[in-house]
Amino acid sequence: MKKNYAVIGDPIDHSKSPVLHQAGFVELEIDASFTAVAVRPENLETFMRTDFVGYSGLAVTLPHKETIGHYLDGVSAVAQQIGAVNTVYREADRILGTNTDCVGALRALETEVSDLRDQSVLVLGAGGASRALVFALLKGGARVMIYNRTIEKAEKIVHDFGGTVCPDLEALRGEHFDIICNTTSVGLKKWESPLPADFFVPDQVVFDMVYDPLETRFLSEANAAGARTITGDKMLVYQALEQFRIWHHRDLAPEVMEAAFFII
Ligand code: NAP
Repeated sequence: MKKNYAVIGDPIDHSKSPVLHQAGFVELEIDASFTAVAVRPENLETFMRTDFVGYSGLAVTLPHKETIGHYLDGVSAVAQQIGAVNTVYREADRILGTNTDCVGALRALETEVSDLRDQSVLVLGAGGASRALVFALLKGGARVMIYNRTIEKAEKIVHDFGGTVCPDLEALRGEHFDIICNTTSVGLKKWESPLPADFFVPDQVVFDMVYDPLETRFLSEANAAGARTITGDKMLVYQALEQFRIWHHRDLAPEVMEAAFFII
C-alpha cells in the first residue's frame, strides 16, 4: 500500500525535504508520497490528533520541533536531551519522535574531520540547530566554546551539555580554533557574516549550516584564508538520509539526495 510522508512547519514553502525524499523513492522504487504541509502552531494538536492518521512519518521543522513531543507516545533519548524532535515515525502502534539533526551535523563534519577528540571548536549561535551540533561535538570528545548574541541561550546549552560560553568575540581574537561552525541564521539570503574574516586561518575547518546561498560570505572569507569549508547542504542531506533509514529501513547513497538538492 502506498505510504504518505510530509514535512510540517510554518512557513514551509522553502523546504527541500520533499525533493530529497522523492529522489530516494525513485532510486529505490518505493511507492510513497512526500508533501509539504503548512501547519500553524495553534493547529498542531488538531493535525496530530486527526490528520496524522494518513501518514507513516513526518519531518518536523520550525516552529514545531520543541512542541510536537507533547503529541507523541515516546521520544528518543537523543531528542529528549536536545529538546527537539525533527522526525516522527510509527513503530507497532506507537507514534515516536527522534532527532536526526545531530547525526546530520556529525556526518557533515566527518567529510573534513576524521576524529573530533580534543579538537577546539568555536560554535556561533545557540538556537535549536546549535543544540544538536554541540551535543554531537561533545559526544565526539571536542572542546566547545559557544558565542551567541543572546548570552543566556549559550549559557543554557553549556548548562545542559557542557562546553564554555564566550561572552565577547573580541576577546577571542588571535585564539586558534581547529573548527569554526556557524549555526546562526546570519548569511541566510544576505551577504553577511557572523564573524570577522581575520578569525580564519589556513587548514582550519569551517562549517556553515546556512544553505541558501550555499556559498555564504562566512564560507567565502574562510576559503580566501585557506580554510577547508563545509556547506550547509551536507548536514541537510545527511539528516534526511537518517530519516530515510528510520522510515524505510533502507540505506540510500548520499549522492542521490545531493543531486536532488540542486534541482530548482
Ligand atoms: P533558531 O533556533 O531560530 O536560532 C537562530 C540563531 O541565530 C540564534 O542563535 C540567534 O541568536 C541567531 N541569530 C539570528 N539572527 C541574528 C543576528 N542578526 N545576529 C546574530 N545572531 C543572530 O534557528 P535554528 O533552527 O537554530 O537554525 C539556525 C540556522 O541553521 C538557520 O539558518 C537554519 O536554516 C540553519 N539550519 C540548517 C540545517 C541544515 O541541515 N543545514 C539544519 C537546521 C538549521 P539569538 O539567540 O540572539 O536570537
